[in-house]
Order: sequence, then C-alpha cells, then structure tokens
Amino acid sequence: MAMKLTQINQNGRIILGIVTELGIVDVPAEAERRGVAAPETMLEAIEGGDAALAVLTELAQAPERFAEGEKAPVVTGGEKILCIGLNYRQHAKECNLPLPPAPVLFNKFSNALAADGDVVTLMPGYVEYDYEAELVAVIGKPCRNVSAEEALDYVFGYTCGNDLSTRDLQFARSNQWLLSKTLDGFAPIGPCLVTADSMDPNDLAISSKVNGELRQNSRTSDMIFSTAEIIADLSRHFPLMPGDMIFTGTPQGVMHGYPKDQKNWLKPGDKVEVSIEGIGTLHTSFR
Ligand code: ZN
Repeated sequence: MAMKLTQINQNGRIILGIVTELGIVDVPAEAERRGVAAPETMLEAIEGGDAALAVLTELAQAPERFAEGEKAPVVTGGEKILCIGLNYRQHAKECNLPLPPAPVLFNKFSNALAADGDVVTLMPGYVEYDYEAELVAVIGKPCRNVSAEEALDYVFGYTCGNDLSTRDLQFARSNQWLLSKTLDGFAPIGPCLVTADSMDPNDLAISSKVNGELRQNSRTSDMIFSTAEIIADLSRHFPLMPGDMIFTGTPQGVMHGYPKDQKNWLKPGDKVEVSIEGIGTLHTSFR
C-alpha cells in the first residue's frame, strides 16, 4: 500500500512522519506509545526495507501522536545527490542543444537540501537564478549493474524537486555545472515522499509556477532517458545506495529557455511551486 512519508525538524532533531488524513504522525512518539520498534528517520525507513514499511503501515492506523515542528527535507543522510541534465526532449529543444546520446550527469551536495516551505537565500553577486521542476527518485537498496527492466525495484519512493540553478555561474564562469547547482538550499525536495509501489514514474504530470503563473507544464513521458534507464546506466558505473537521490531532469519552460528580452530571473520575494501528479506541491520562496 502506498504511503506518504515526510520528515519533521523537532528543535534540531529530524524525525520521520507519516502523512495521513488526520495529520502527520510522529513516528517515534507513536511507536513509543504502542511499545514497538520503528524507524526514526527516513533513512532508517529506507534501510529497514519491507519490515520497516510494515511497521509504518501499522502506525498509520488510528494514530494518536502527531508531529509538531518545521518540515525538514524529506530525505537526509544519504550518500549522493545525483542530477540528470537535458533529459526532456522539449527542454533540450528550448536550450538549442541536440538530444544527448547518454544521460548528462552532475551532482549537488547535502548543503543544498531544503524542505517544503523553506526560504532560500539568493547569493549576492549573481542574477540569473532559475527554477527546474523535477521528479526525484530515492534509491531503496544497494544497486550495482542492474538492468533497466529491474531498476525500478530498487527505488524506495519519489518526491518533487526543484533543481535551482545559477545560470551566470553555470555558463559564464566555466563548463562545470556544479557550482551553479549546489549553493545553500538549491535542492528543495518534498512536500512528502510517496513509496514506489503505487507510482509509475513514466507518465506523470509535472509543472511549476512562479508567483502563481504557470511556467512548466509537461509529463514525465517526455524524458529522453527514463528513470529506469538512468538507474541502470548509473549503476553500471558506480554503486547506488539507500537514500541516494536522483533528480531526473526538467521539462521545457525554464527561464533559461526564454528569449533574451523576456528573461525574468528569480528574485527575492518570489515564490515557486513544483507539482507532480500523485505526490503534491513543493513550495520554495526566496530572499
Ligand atoms: Zn535539472
């Protein structure tokens, strides 16, 4: 059964929550109330496999302890944050670039993670700040040399991501995209993680809005390399581990693709929403 999980920051302690119609269940407190062992963080839930999911399914029934605190990034403590560039046909077209023959890979670091509702600081000295709505796959099991056919069995769940980008760092300073992409808070994820059992990542509506105005509106079926093909390709070259995240690329409609005289980069006070069918909406604002 599909579950929506999240993490809450309780005065600096990050705990696992289950999103239910009644509210967000405080997993450690609910487990203590019932006298059962349960994962206390998302990473523990991922590493706990089917047994952990069974306990969480139990705890979601008639819960009495609900989480208070601020939202935390839905996954923390994983080893890698991997990102695929130019992975939607219409986005490659708006960038005037040919379709890549293999997945274009870059990464972010954990300083970039941000939660739903966070306010991200736009660093002074740069101006070309851009949004990128992305489906994020979270790896559930160690994964090496898997085929595309079996790759989705290694996914724990999916969340929404915003691959925030600093285009003046990405293109003007060097050919390396890393610096542009891993400023503090430049990888918002959330608002929850949906477990993989109910999700088909290959045909989901994905969109973004800036200050309420629709900017990106596509489907994951426009991806050049599917989530399964990406996992298979990466796993041929290095191991993927539980808690690793893969940002799977963004559809057309980012500011970088707009004509020169219509560019309207993100600025302090702006609000960006990233929505994916079956997951929800990730909110980020800027200062
Ligand atoms: Zn991206």
